[in-house]
Amino acid sequence: MRFYPAAATDVNFPTIRITGGHHTESEIERILKFIHIDSPSIAGWLIVEGILKNGDRREGVTIVNPHGNLNNAFTSAVGADHNSDQPDSTAEDLLRNPGRGAGGRIVYYPWEWHQIGGGRPGAARDEILLHELVHAYMQQRGLSSIRNLHRLRYARRLRRFDLVDDFFAVMITNVYSSECGRQVRRDHHGFQSLNRNAMSIISDPRFAPLFNALAKGDPDLVKELRKIDTAFNPWHPRMDLIDATSVFDDA
Ligand SMILES: [Zn+2]
Repeated sequence: MRFYPAAATDVNFPTIRITGGHHTESEIERILKFIHIDSPSIAGWLIVEGILKNGDRREGVTIVNPHGNLNNAFTSAVGADHNSDQPDSTAEDLLRNPGRGAGGRIVYYPWEWHQIGGGRPGAARDEILLHELVHAYMQQRGLSSIRNLHRLRYARRLRRFDLVDDFFAVMITNVYSSECGRQVRRDHHGFQSLNRNAMSIISDPRFAPLFNALAKGDPDLVKELRKIDTAFNPWHPRMDLIDATSVFDDA
């Protein structure tokens, strides 16, 4: 087992724990450091820093080696008391009444994913790990919502994010990818390229409940996301990229 950052071995400090054998642990540590420090991304820094600074051992995050391909990665809440990682959400108010928060357990195998900078949009090993870290970040704050978007009330393009949680994980990772000069991911089905600009996403009425929920549930994070100037950032869309015809409605 090792810790990220390595120096933070105080058990009362919710440093990220990495387990599962030296070779894989050191690779995960390298990727965490890339997301947090070495990449040009502020979004990546915000999520890792947010996890490290959450201030409660109960909310600590552990990354576990499955010792083989998963064709996926998973994050589950640890120590959640009666779903205390979940908000009391409604169909319209998606992150209503944040829960108490919980720790997180991420099962992730770096070797099955493309090297940093490679692969389909969102499918490099740093992007896959950051996606899971966003889930852990939300669980820590009692904002993780597994509300199913596969409902007829939701537009098809929203249903393709599967869960409320995955909309945030994909969109925040997209800001990171953009800051790293990479393509952004369309939704949570596969790793297709998003052929819409940030203004089109933030002005889409079908996505508004998601953005409104995060602004209310984690205003500090949204305040920082709004400062990030990059090609794709729905929290700070570049005005010169407005393309009104890209707003569509397939409901
Ligand atoms: Zn996910």
